[in-house]
Amino acid sequence: MNVYDHPTFRMACEQFDLVADRLEIPPAQRDRLKYPKRSMTVALPIQLDSGEVKVFTGHRVQHHLTLGPTKGGLRYNPAVELGEVAALAMWMSWKCALTGLPYGGAKGGICCDPTAMSSRELERLTRRFTQEMIPFIGPQIDIMAPDMGTNEQTMAWMMDTYSMHVGHTVPSIVTGKPVGIGGSVGRREATGRGVAYLINRAMDTLGIAASQATAVVQGFGNVGSVTALSLAKYGVKVIAVSDIHGGIFNRSGLDLWELEKHIAAHRTVAGFPGAEPVTNEELLLIPCDILVPAALERQVTRENASRIRCRILAEAANGPTTPEADVILGNRPEIFILPDILCNAGGVVVSYFEWVQDLQSFFWTESEVVDKLFRILEGAFTQTLGLSRKQGITMRLAALSIGVGRVQEAKRMRGLFP
Ligand code: NAD
Repeated sequence: MNVYDHPTFRMACEQFDLVADRLEIPPAQRDRLKYPKRSMTVALPIQLDSGEVKVFTGHRVQHHLTLGPTKGGLRYNPAVELGEVAALAMWMSWKCALTGLPYGGAKGGICCDPTAMSSRELERLTRRFTQEMIPFIGPQIDIMAPDMGTNEQTMAWMMDTYSMHVGHTVPSIVTGKPVGIGGSVGRREATGRGVAYLINRAMDTLGIAASQATAVVQGFGNVGSVTALSLAKYGVKVIAVSDIHGGIFNRSGLDLWELEKHIAAHRTVAGFPGAEPVTNEELLLIPCDILVPAALERQVTRENASRIRCRILAEAANGPTTPEADVILGNRPEIFILPDILCNAGGVVVSYFEWVQDLQSFFWTESEVVDKLFRILEGAFTQTLGLSRKQGITMRLAALSIGVGRVQEAKRMRGLFP
């Protein structure tokens, strides 16, 4: 299916093919499992503050509908393309199945630079996209959530647009919205909190003491910043972080609370006093115990995989390691990988809690949310580690095998329509 051709989609397909070979999935079932159920591409004309009308392109890909509605984030980034969105939707499917959620995967994206747009422009763009998506979304069809470049406010605009369309308030149409309009406590922090929980479990498994450990985080956005702060609470020393403008490094540890103040004033980590500047490429090579890519896909590559120096590679971003890099890391057993579909699953797990709370109009406390989140992550971690050890396969192959296997089994049980 050339319509999805993109380096990230090819990467997701390569991973799938490895798992399909291992699970001996018959050829006739492979394409059915691999290719998205449907995808929509829309033109989004909006008026900029200057008065000029500009047309943006938006995509939404729904990967499979076998287990329930589709679920997945919406990304605003200049590099968004259909094939990248399709790959992210496929990974969401395996992630939801690995954590036992009743969803198929989806993803959306608008090709735009949100950092160069005003709030009014972003609102117009979000509302227009939601309007175009109305025939394809719904609380039992497809539910969006924040991803790179989008946030609680984006979700609030989407919910408002959809609710105005149907004539009554529908909080369950999106997750990751503000708590005051039906969001869940603990959703904003969920992905980073989950990443830190799993890193802590990996440290236990490897016998690394948190108080002796150092961490490097690429991408200090929602996921990266909460991961860093949560790791610091476990006692880990965070020595380097970055964002799109560059990175900062201090071997003695960064004061993250001071850094938050610096970001509030300057909107970047760059220029933080008392730390050396580093590029994003250099940052990945800093010796540390825990390396957390929390920005974009394809950051650990054939070029740098043999040179990263960490004990735990915690994939907070989706798809940060290329298949070529995976082969190199396969020959470096000293590095324990927390694969993306496990590592960052906390976000969709608490999104699921938010959807359940909205459907029931019955809201939980933060400790209920966090307890249930950790219980689900613990189950997924234990199953993945167990399969990895039992069959002598990588954590990634184990996690993907569980996820793909469950979707395959569900399709088998439902049969082929008509
Ligand atoms: P965000 O927009 O809040 O933060 C992204 C961060 O990455 C920002 O600091 C940005 O400056 C930085 N960045 C962007 N381009 C970069 C580059 N070229 N080099 C270095 N840094 C760069 O996004 P987020 O929600 O934190 O998402 C980050 C990653 O986590 C994405 O891969 C996303 O798909 C994944 N993820 C997010 C969630 C969630 O709940 N938000 C859940 C699962 C996975």
